[in-house]
Amino acid sequence: VTTGVPAVPGTAGVPRAAQGGTDPFRATTGTPVVPPHPSRIDLHCHTDRSDGVLAPERLVRAAASAGIRLLAITDHDTLAGYRDLPASDRPQPVVVPGVEINSVAEGVEALWEGELHVLGLGVDPDDEALEAALASQRARRVERFHAIVSRLRELGLSVDAEVADLHPAEGSSLGRPTLARHLVAAGHATSVDDAMRRILARGMPGYVPRVGLGPRAAIEAIRAAGGLPVLAHFADARVRRALVAELRDLGLGGLEVYYRHFSAEVVAELRDVAGDLRLVPTGGSDYHGDVETYAEAHARLYVPEAVAGLVHGALQGTASTGFR
Ligand SMILES: [Zn+2]
Ligand SMILES: [Zn+2]
Repeated sequence: VTTGVPAVPGTAGVPRAAQGGTDPFRATTGTPVVPPHPSRIDLHCHTDRSDGVLAPERLVRAAASAGIRLLAITDHDTLAGYRDLPASDRPQPVVVPGVEINSVAEGVEALWEGELHVLGLGVDPDDEALEAALASQRARRVERFHAIVSRLRELGLSVDAEVADLHPAEGSSLGRPTLARHLVAAGHATSVDDAMRRILARGMPGYVPRVGLGPRAAIEAIRAAGGLPVLAHFADARVRRALVAELRDLGLGGLEVYYRHFSAEVVAELRDVAGDLRLVPTGGSDYHGDVETYAEAHARLYVPEAVAGLVHGALQGTASTGFR
């Protein structure tokens, strides 16, 4: 094999040193969280309007079936999932317009892929400045997607014409999981996770750097649209309080404490960090739909009931009209 891509190894032997910092999704071996009761809140999930699998309506239905009463759709760089939901007299669950911005944190050492992910909860879906910023982010995602396709072909990995020519529907965004799913289907990887870690992640042969908003611009854009900026799945907040405090001083309002993939120990420590730094502790599944059904993901999600009130309280007095 001359592609430079390591042979499919399962999870063993994955180079980590080149990945640049701690992978937020796997930093957290330890005691699994056992929800004391089914969670009614999920403030982080993805639909097919970005890199998730389910259409917005199907995701909302699956969440409702699992017992969710407050759901934030937080697609990457788009509010299309929220906008495309059919109007309903009895919205069940309550759906909060949200967004996730994978900010490019230049100058910040030792971050997974050099990024800090910022959720915007309760942003005004009609805010024009935010929409303009997100549209620009989406355009950069399309450019990156096609640069990665070229890169994969240089590596000798086949990419179907329909994937190579893919352009997202108006308002939707593209991400690497779409390419990862293709690599799995083509036999180049065993799972989306495997494709990400071995081929597409930073330090790997198919990596192309992201261009886009920095953390400060992301936080400011979310604030200006009346939303609550929340630092997502950042287990390193336990040991990098100064960085998180700096972000708070820029307008960060929350820390994702009850993240589905975090161990009980990490959750406990992050709860303390959020308390000390006066950040709203949020939580969610980060459901994409590749690995399991929503119900299966939900079984490992624990977000305390009090989070709803804290998020709602933090959004009071902002310009937000989205959080209902
Ligand atoms: Zn993220
Ligand atoms: Zn996410």
